[in-house]
Amino acid sequence: PAAGANISELMHQVLGPREWEIMCRAGEIAARLGYRVFAAGGVVRDILLKAGNLDIDLVVEGDGIALAEALAGAYGAQVRAHRKFGTAEVLFPDGFKVDVATARVEFYEYPAALPRVESSCVRHDLYRRDFTINAMAVDLNGEHFGDLIDFFGGRQDLQQGLIRVLYNLSFIEDPIRLLRAVRFEQRYGFKIESQTLKLVQEAVRREVLARVSAERLWEELKHILMEERAGRMLERLHQLGIWPFAFHGVTYWEVQPVLHDLGESMQLLEEWGFPPVNEPWLCYFIAALHWTDPETARSLCERYHLNKRQTGKVLATLANWRPVLSRLCLRDGVRTSELARALLLLPPEAHPLILTLLDEEWLKERFRQLLVLLREKPTVDGTYIKNLGYRPGPIFRRALDAVWRARLDGLVKNTEEEKAFVQEFLRRHQGEDSHD
Ligand code: ATP
Repeated sequence: PAAGANISELMHQVLGPREWEIMCRAGEIAARLGYRVFAAGGVVRDILLKAGNLDIDLVVEGDGIALAEALAGAYGAQVRAHRKFGTAEVLFPDGFKVDVATARVEFYEYPAALPRVESSCVRHDLYRRDFTINAMAVDLNGEHFGDLIDFFGGRQDLQQGLIRVLYNLSFIEDPIRLLRAVRFEQRYGFKIESQTLKLVQEAVRREVLARVSAERLWEELKHILMEERAGRMLERLHQLGIWPFAFHGVTYWEVQPVLHDLGESMQLLEEWGFPPVNEPWLCYFIAALHWTDPETARSLCERYHLNKRQTGKVLATLANWRPVLSRLCLRDGVRTSELARALLLLPPEAHPLILTLLDEEWLKERFRQLLVLLREKPTVDGTYIKNLGYRPGPIFRRALDAVWRARLDGLVKNTEEEKAFVQEFLRRHQGEDSHD
């Protein structure tokens, strides 16, 4: 039974000790202040799915900022308040975060002042949300603690695996929800419910996404690119006709096979022990753009305000992935140091792309070995050369580069040989550069 259900046991089971404690504490504080407080949105969905979700969103009938401050006080946390919106973030020292919002007070909008029903404010808050599965709340107040508030059948849709909007104009009102529908559908392996699907198709036909700002579009697109199943999400965007609004000028079918397998490659790199990159979304972005021309790529980077460093990585990949790939695929006659030098023209965010494009096992293995070699630092460095009595200058770089290549090509095998190699190199080239 959806209505009237109490899920406090499930909450206790699914939430971490801290999240559980915070929810209890929020209820106590609300009681003290004479407010009512609810956990709402994604956290409720994820409790019901028994999936851990660290983001707690609280909705307060009362002064949300005051509650946030009291909550922060109880934990020695900081508050970042946005007074204009009545919202606040409670920031814990270790980066954990609780969002607090003030439920809009309804009698402003209904001046006839009908007697307010229980939790009418939270209802109003929930009605503004995107999908039924995201529009549930949990009561955190006293004896009601754990009561599920589900006005729209979210729990049932969760059980049946359906993404359903709350009202017909939902996508017209906020076209970003088109991308969110795809994200939640593919993340959970759900289906967009049939009436909602018709609304999606109509909204796409009416090109509602064309009037969304690039900032908002990118914000949601980036969320997609950070998801584990980003490849499937992008495919679904294409199926639904949303792709061209997100990747204007990029032909989907040219990158489809790569996007399909990219996640697997990222996982393989991790299994091989390579550290994950800081911006995994950039791996997908690069893969999506690798087939396009530099002008299109550059204009998309500009549109989405990628910074210089990120744009540089995209363009470096476009310019270099083909030569890297063709060198890697040569069976013989290519030196390891040559391969390494080529590979260094690519950012690490392009490694999943390269791995995906290598379709034979021996090539993947060759790529892996190359990455291992690149990770190992030579034991001989500038300090060593300086201690030999040389003054820092261009010769340092040349010597270190030479020993780097020699090591990659197997000409030197250990520290002793590296040292001998460097000394010999310096002897042969002394005079070209000054030294003591
Ligand atoms: P995730 O697990 O990706 O963090 P989430 O549901 O917490 O999922 P958020 O983007 O943090 O996603 O949004 C929090 C909640 O705010 C959602 O559950 C939803 O109820 C509401 N929401 C977010 N964006 C919109 C939107 N564009 N329109 C309506 N409601 C939204």
